[in-house]
Amino acid sequence: MSTVLCNFARRILPQVRRSAGLHRKCSLSTLATLPEEHEMLRKTCRDFADRELAPNAAEWDKNHIYPAEQVKGLGELGLLGVSVPEKYGGTGLDYLAYAIAMEEISRGCASTGCIMSVNNSLYLGPLMDFGTEKQKDEFVRPFLNGDRVGCFALSEPDNGSDAGAASTTACLDGDHWVLNGAKMWITNGYEAEATVVFARTDKAMKHRGISAFVVPKPYDGLSLGKKEDKLGIKATSTCQLIFEDCRIPKENILGQEGMGFKIAMTTLDAGRIGIAGQGLGIAQAAVDCAVDYATKRTAFEQPISRFQIIQTKLADMEVRVESARLLTWKAAMLKDAGLPYTKEAAMAKLAASEAATYCAHQAIQVLGGMGFVTDMPAERHYRDARITEIYEGTSEIQKLVIAGQMLKKHAEMMS
Ligand SMILES: Cc1cc2nc3c(=O)[nH]c(=O)nc-3n(C[C@H](O)[C@H](O)[C@H](O)COP(=O)(O)OP(=O)(O)OC[C@H]3O[C@@H](n4cnc5c(N)ncnc54)[C@H](O)[C@@H]3O)c2cc1C
Repeated sequence: MSTVLCNFARRILPQVRRSAGLHRKCSLSTLATLPEEHEMLRKTCRDFADRELAPNAAEWDKNHIYPAEQVKGLGELGLLGVSVPEKYGGTGLDYLAYAIAMEEISRGCASTGCIMSVNNSLYLGPLMDFGTEKQKDEFVRPFLNGDRVGCFALSEPDNGSDAGAASTTACLDGDHWVLNGAKMWITNGYEAEATVVFARTDKAMKHRGISAFVVPKPYDGLSLGKKEDKLGIKATSTCQLIFEDCRIPKENILGQEGMGFKIAMTTLDAGRIGIAGQGLGIAQAAVDCAVDYATKRTAFEQPISRFQIIQTKLADMEVRVESARLLTWKAAMLKDAGLPYTKEAAMAKLAASEAATYCAHQAIQVLGGMGFVTDMPAERHYRDARITEIYEGTSEIQKLVIAGQMLKKHAEMMS
């Protein structure tokens, strides 16, 4: 990362940090225009993305290269522990700031956004919410400056959406938990130096028989499966984590025994705001690409941007991105205000991921043949967008969450 940017970040982020506490209330004016401090953060992230990510994203994608140097850069900017309090070495910003940062970083490179979201919300999130002070010292502090990243292991070969059906087991043996089983699709699996992992501690109880643990990596009894060859976010590693008589100290349990499902669901609620930010970033990158191309490409002796059918596409894209952005900011502000936000986070993730897919699809159409080849980024956005509709709960699961919350509210009103 350039020294200029580093210095800029060092000057700006403390100001953002100091001001962040002023914006914890949900306000309509915040929805209309961002507070100045959040705008400064957006600019910092955008500069970083424009200089360090966007110019390299195609090569990382093509050659499946993990952007190690730029992940270090994220750490230097304070973007790997955005909402971790300063007391623990984090940046101490609110979730609105996190959503904005996720959008800007993902606009430059969706893979880097994915790595950032896993460390912030899936790995550090449960440790901050449920970890002991000792666990925070050991597993939070060293994972903020980009030297180390973490991962989150919930999904298994036989269950993804139905997380309560986990079959990985953890049995107590003296002062140790012994873990056995396989976790699948684990982002950052190859690079991570610790994982939050979910395992069954009671076979008789479905959801309430699951517990959460934190395991350093590498570790005896924990091995990695093959790196998955994916459609998109190719600069991230995704692999199985295989636990074979993996003995971890008893105190590596997160929260209480049987709390694992609750920890997973709480983590995913917050994580969905980050994925909504990622979807927004991909969608915005697709819109930017389409607008730019439409003004430069000539057909029938005029720029194609003059054709109303092209303008309709641009307008439809813009409406979807902006609507999803407002949903995302609203969900983030509800979380920052300490209010319930499960439904809003699911709506934000659903809308932003669908906006990403829609905009990337339309961007290819606007670019015509150039949309179909790797010389232009539109096809990468199209491939990267699809994962946002799948991980951290598929679109179908988001709809179940939204409807479930609506029906719960209705039942409460009727009782
Ligand atoms: C690239 C990538 C990275 C990932 N990273 C991680 C990670 O870091 N950590 C982690 O733990 N997991 C990770 N995942 C796993 C991801 O969260 C799951 O793939 C996702 O939750 C879906 O689970 P599944 O693949 O088992 O699909 P399934 O659950 O088998 O679903 C298949 C289809 O059935 C639908 N379906 C399932 N249940 C219902 C229902 N009740 N009602 C209606 N439709 C339903 C789904 O929506 C989907 O369309 C990752 C996945 C990928 C592809």
